[in-house]
Amino acid sequence: MRRAGAFRGSWSLVYDGYVPREEALREALCTTGNGYFATRGAAPESRADGIHYPGTYVNGVFNRLTTHIAGETVENESLVNLPNWLPLTFRVEGGAWFSSDHVELLSYQQELDLRSGVLTRRLRCRDNLGRHTGLTQRRFASMADPHLAALEVTVTAEDWAGRVDVRSGLDGEMANTGVARYRDLASRHLEEPQLEEIDATTIGLRTCTSQSRIVVALAARTQVGTPGQPPGTRRVVRDAGQIAHEIHAHLTQGQSLVIEKTVSLGTSRDPAISEPGIQARALARAGGFRELLQAHTACLGNLWERMHVSLAGEEPASFILNLHIFHLMQTISPHTADMDVGIPARGLHGEAYRGHVFWDELFVLPYLTLTMPELTRSLLRYRHRRLPEARRAACDAGYRGAMFPWQSGSDGREESQRLHLNPLSGRWRRDYSNRQRHINAAIAYNLWVYYQCTADLEFMSLYGAEVLLEIARFWASIARYDRELGRYVIEGVVGPDEYHDAYPWASDPGLANNAYTNVMAVWVLCRSLELLGQLPARRRAALQKELDLTPAEVDRWDDISRRMYVPFHADGIISQFDGYPRLQELDWDSYRARYGSIQRLDRILEAESDTPNRYRASKQADVLMLFYLLSAEELRELFTRLGYRWEPGLIARNIDYYTPRTSHGSTLSRVVHSRVVACANRSGSWELFTQALDSDIADIQRGTTAEGIHLGAMAGTIDMVARGYTGIEPRGNVLWLNPCLPDQVPALTLRIRYRRHWGVTVRIAHGRIQVCVPASDAPPIIIGYQGNLTQVAPGETFDAALPEPALRRLPEAKPR
Ligand code: BGC
Repeated sequence: MRRAGAFRGSWSLVYDGYVPREEALREALCTTGNGYFATRGAAPESRADGIHYPGTYVNGVFNRLTTHIAGETVENESLVNLPNWLPLTFRVEGGAWFSSDHVELLSYQQELDLRSGVLTRRLRCRDNLGRHTGLTQRRFASMADPHLAALEVTVTAEDWAGRVDVRSGLDGEMANTGVARYRDLASRHLEEPQLEEIDATTIGLRTCTSQSRIVVALAARTQVGTPGQPPGTRRVVRDAGQIAHEIHAHLTQGQSLVIEKTVSLGTSRDPAISEPGIQARALARAGGFRELLQAHTACLGNLWERMHVSLAGEEPASFILNLHIFHLMQTISPHTADMDVGIPARGLHGEAYRGHVFWDELFVLPYLTLTMPELTRSLLRYRHRRLPEARRAACDAGYRGAMFPWQSGSDGREESQRLHLNPLSGRWRRDYSNRQRHINAAIAYNLWVYYQCTADLEFMSLYGAEVLLEIARFWASIARYDRELGRYVIEGVVGPDEYHDAYPWASDPGLANNAYTNVMAVWVLCRSLELLGQLPARRRAALQKELDLTPAEVDRWDDISRRMYVPFHADGIISQFDGYPRLQELDWDSYRARYGSIQRLDRILEAESDTPNRYRASKQADVLMLFYLLSAEELRELFTRLGYRWEPGLIARNIDYYTPRTSHGSTLSRVVHSRVVACANRSGSWELFTQALDSDIADIQRGTTAEGIHLGAMAGTIDMVARGYTGIEPRGNVLWLNPCLPDQVPALTLRIRYRRHWGVTVRIAHGRIQVCVPASDAPPIIIGYQGNLTQVAPGETFDAALPEPALRRLPEAKPR
C-alpha cells in the first residue's frame, strides 16, 4: 500500500515535493486543532479551487440548509466550514502574489511534528523574473488556549532586494464544498460577514450561521518585522467577504522578513463569554508566536504523557499509531470537555458525513475512558442532553424509551440523509441506514465501560442510569413476542453491515433479527437490571418514579433477556440476520477481477442495477462485532441465559465463515477483524491491524481521507493496542489482563487511569507483564490474571511471567 507521506522517526510526517493531486489528502492528514477547533493543513495563500480546500471547523457548530433534489426537498445539517483564518501571502516588487501553483519550485517540504503539533512548510522558488525566494511557514492551533491559532511566515530575499507586500487576512466567503458528492446540495451556511479594522495591527470578522444563528467572530493580529528595520506601512483591504491588512516592507539581499499572525476564534456557543466579538478582540492580550508556542507545546506535552501508547518494534506501526493519537487529540482534547458536543466520525478534518456523530464513538470512547475518563463523561453527556429528543423519536416510531439517531448533530434528531448519491451510477437512492438501531447498544456499552473503569456511581446515578434504562426500555418495546417461536424478535432494523438494508424479496426496508442487535439488546437489558441493583436506594426509587418504571416492566426486561431469538444457520453458524442463508453467494473473484477494489461493492452492484441485498456479502464486521465487544465468557453467559448452546469452537467458526464474505468497505471493519482473531491467529491479526493503520495514511479508500480522517478507525487502532493486545478489561472491581502480543511487537507500554489511580503503567513484553501502581492514598487495585486475583497497593508493582515460549527481556518502551 502506498503511503503518500514519509515518516521521520516516530514523530514526524514529512511530504517532499508539491503534488497537486495529493494536496487534499495532505491537508486532511496535516490538520492541526485543539479539540475546540481544527484547521486543515491547506496552504495559507490557497483558496478552494479543486486542488486546495481550506477548512476550519469548530466542534458542534452546525447549520441546516434545504435543497430541492431528485424531485424532493431534502434538509441537511452540516458542520460549518467557518471563515478562513489562514490567508497570508506576499508579493515581491513587480511580481504576482505568491502561490505554489504559479512559481517554479526549487524545493518543497511539508512537515507535521506530532510532538509539538506544529505544521511547517519550507520551500524555495524562482519567480518569472528569475529571483530566488525562500519561504518558511509554521503554524499551530493552541492547546493552551483553545481560541488561539498562530502562523509565522519567514520570507527570505536570497538574491534580490526590493519592496515586499504582505497580505494577511480573514476570509468570510466560505462554503461547504469539500465533498464532490454533496455539491448539488446547498452549501452556503454563513451570512455576509461584518469586517472591521480593530486597531493598527488587528482586523476582525464577524458572521452568523444562516439557520442555527451561531455568531462566529475572529480577530487577526499581524506583526511584521525585519531585524533592525522599522515595521512597514500598512493599509486595510476589503473585498467581498474578506478583509486583510496589506503591509509594505523592504528587503535587502539575503535578508528575511518575519511575519507573525495571531488569530482568535470564538462562537456564541462558547461558555464564559459576553459576546464572541468582544472575546475575539481580547486577542490584543495574547503574546507573540514564541510565547504562544511555548505554552502550547507544554500543554500538548502533558497530553502526550497521558495519551501515549508506546509500541516498540516494527516501523512504521509506531509512527502511524502516534499519528492516530495525534489526530484524536486534535478532535477531542481537554478543551472538548466544556463543550456540548459528540465525536464527529470524520474528525474536524473535512466535510464527509457532514460532521455527524455516529456509533463510531464505540471505537473511540473506551480508550479515552482508560486514559481521560473526564472526557468520556463529557461526551456521554452529549447523549444525555439529547435524551428528550431520543424519547420523542421512539414515541414517533411507536416505541417507548429512547431511540437515539443513527446520525446525530446539534439537537439529537435523526440527521441521516434520506437520499444518497451513488457517484458510480449518478443515481440518487433511498437511504435506510437510519434503521441501525444498534447505535443504542453502542451508547449503553460506552456508558458501561466508563462505569466499570471509574466506578463513578455518582455519574451513573445522575445521568448514566437514565440513559441506560431508557435504552433498555426501547429494546424491550421494539422486541415483539413471537408465539410460534416462543421467543422475542426484533424486526425492521439494519445491522452494522450497511450492504443489507432490506430483503431482496420484500418491498419494505429493514431486516429481522440481526443477531448483533438482538444479542446486544439482551446485554443492555442485563446491564440495566444489574445497575438497578447497584444504584443508591433513594436514587433508584426516584428514578423509577420519574421514569414510571414498574416492577412488571422490569420483570418483562428479565423475561426478554432470557427469551430473545438469535438466528442460526443449520450448521450452527450465527446468522447475520433471519433469512441470511437464503441469500446467494457472491462471485468475489469475478468482481475483484473486474473492479480491482470492491470495498464499495454496494455502489458497484447498484450501478449494475443489482443490489448487495441479494448476496452473502458484508461491508463490515457484523456478527463479529459481538466477539469484538464481549469476552467469550460474557457471551457464554448470555447465550446460556438465552438457552442456546455455546460450543467452544463457535467464535472461530463464525470468524472463518464471515471473513471471506466481508469486503471491509468500512475502515472500522479491519479493526474489528484484527481484534477478534488476535489470540488465535497472531500474524493474521497483525496483517489486518497494519491494514487498519493504513486506512488514512495510505488513503485505502482512494479519496475518502481527503474528505476527513476516519476517527473511528484511527482510535480503533489505538484501542487495539491499549485494550486488544493487553487484554485490559475492567469488570466488577477487578482489572483483568489477558495479554496477547503479536510477534512483530516486542513490547508495549501505556499509562491508564483506573478508578482513583492516575498513571498506572502497564508494560507488556514477550515473557513479562508489569503493572506499576503509583504511590497514593487510593485503595489497592485488584488485578485479575489467568484466573487469579492479586491486590496491588499504591507504590507496588504487579509483575508476572507470560506463558510465552521465547522469554525476552523487557525492552525500553516507555511512554514519553
Ligand atoms: C460505516 C458505518 C460508520 C460510518 C461513519 C460507514 O461507512 O459503514 O459503520 O458508522 O461510515 O464512519
